[in-house]
Amino acid sequence: MKDYDIYIDGKWVKSASDRRFETRNPYNGEVLATFPQGTREDVQRAIDCAEKAFPAWRKTPAPKRGEILLRAAQIMRARKQELGEMVTKEMGKVIAEGKGDVQEAIDFLEYISGEGRRLLGETTPSELPNKFCMTVRQPIGVVGCITPWNFPTAIPIWKIGAALIAGNTIVFKPASLTPLCVAVLVEILEEAGLPPGVLNFVTGGGGTVGMEIVENPRVKAISFTGGVPAGREIYMTAAQHLKPVEVELGGKNPVIVMDDANLDLALEGVLFGAFGTAGQRCTATSRLILHENIYNAMMDRLIARTETFTVGNPLDPQISMGPVADQNQLESIMNYIQIGKQEANLVYGGQQLTGGEYDRGCFIQPTIFETSHGTRISKEEIFGPVLSVIKVGSYEEAIEVANDIEYGLSSAIYTRDVNLAFRAVDDLETGITYINAPTIGAEVHLPFGGVKNTGNGGREAGTTAIDEFTEIKTVFVDYSNRLQKAQIVDEL
Ligand code: NDP
Repeated sequence: MKDYDIYIDGKWVKSASDRRFETRNPYNGEVLATFPQGTREDVQRAIDCAEKAFPAWRKTPAPKRGEILLRAAQIMRARKQELGEMVTKEMGKVIAEGKGDVQEAIDFLEYISGEGRRLLGETTPSELPNKFCMTVRQPIGVVGCITPWNFPTAIPIWKIGAALIAGNTIVFKPASLTPLCVAVLVEILEEAGLPPGVLNFVTGGGGTVGMEIVENPRVKAISFTGGVPAGREIYMTAAQHLKPVEVELGGKNPVIVMDDANLDLALEGVLFGAFGTAGQRCTATSRLILHENIYNAMMDRLIARTETFTVGNPLDPQISMGPVADQNQLESIMNYIQIGKQEANLVYGGQQLTGGEYDRGCFIQPTIFETSHGTRISKEEIFGPVLSVIKVGSYEEAIEVANDIEYGLSSAIYTRDVNLAFRAVDDLETGITYINAPTIGAEVHLPFGGVKNTGNGGREAGTTAIDEFTEIKTVFVDYSNRLQKAQIVDEL
């Protein structure tokens, strides 16, 4: 167990506060590390150093910046098993998913390091003779990144990698539930050759460390992933400073299964989407919309397979589902299960698991409700292993139910009808749609994000990853050697 400090200007230094907090394993309560409960003053020191480091980092050729990120990916690849176990211990997802979290971070670093040889702008003709027009991308300056706990290596790396390749310097605040994973990423980036001050890491509460990052005018842009309440507060606060903000927020993601679908395939996708990461993914399948013609057949399969689910130590590769992230998560999910018991029909699970090893951690059974559309459990994000199943009579009704929701992150439809599949791509109001695949499974070279209350329009990853971290400069080069006036020309 290690007592960490905060990381500023390339050194682990004491926080202004001597208050500390622990990060624990949700499986058994073991303390994994302790961190400072940072202060606004810590953030200000981090900003000082990030500002100081910015001019040299900005001038470092982008392919050289990419080399550092690629080295970090190589270090992570060599340490993947150990890092995957750390994710599993700190966050509770099963080991295959813990390693998957790390693999996603590696994939992104490899992908974005190549972006250092692109950072593409545009060239266009001019409306005037002997004049050349283009756009170039420039870094924004010091940027602030604030992340949640459910992907403790992948989400931080999505932000860090994109911000750094574009030439920004960073003040980073991790979720207080999973600071250890990010602290180790910081160590890896240092080992890969990141210069001092380019990435600064301050732990502590959202209302203090987080808010100082958002409010401080010297932080020029914010990248946030988390829940709607914090996202809304951050967006509104930053708006007062006219500061660009990208918020990636919650989801209530539907899978539609039509009556011509391959039910066995749909079943596997629904189970993985609903109960993978114990349902604590922004893209988790939380609504299953079943056509009435296959309703009973699908429900029988679903319940039979869920009965075989094992819940326990997430480091054991035989276990299907680990604990939820902490006591607060447990209470919040159990509260929704109570609500569900009053307004819907519980068909499987619904219990907190207790006794033996369960008494040391935070365990919930995978849970399935049959419900009508419109109940709270069918509309609010639960962020746990709770699936709401809704029966519909037609494709049109399925789309209406899927879309009648405040979120719009991911969606899926299982059908063998290619026409219907393409109609669904048009009709589903989400940033991501899967055909014959679950709602989870992002690939790093494609844009990721949602519509409606899931975000404010940005997309992380893919070719769009650098958009939130770059300003576009438009450049006109006039080589006519005379004054030419756009729009003020003789008619041809
Ligand atoms: P929170 O919104 O509670 O926290 C996210 C981060 O924001 C944490 O680092 C937290 O700090 C910090 N924070 C909280 N309040 C403030 C504030 N007022 N000002 C600045 N920072 C603040 O989310 P969770 O960590 O609980 O994550 C779960 C949520 O994240 C779910 O709603 C999920 O859907 C969403 N999510 C969205 C994704 C997407 O890409 N769309 C991906 C993954 C998750 P602290 O931990 O110290 O409280």
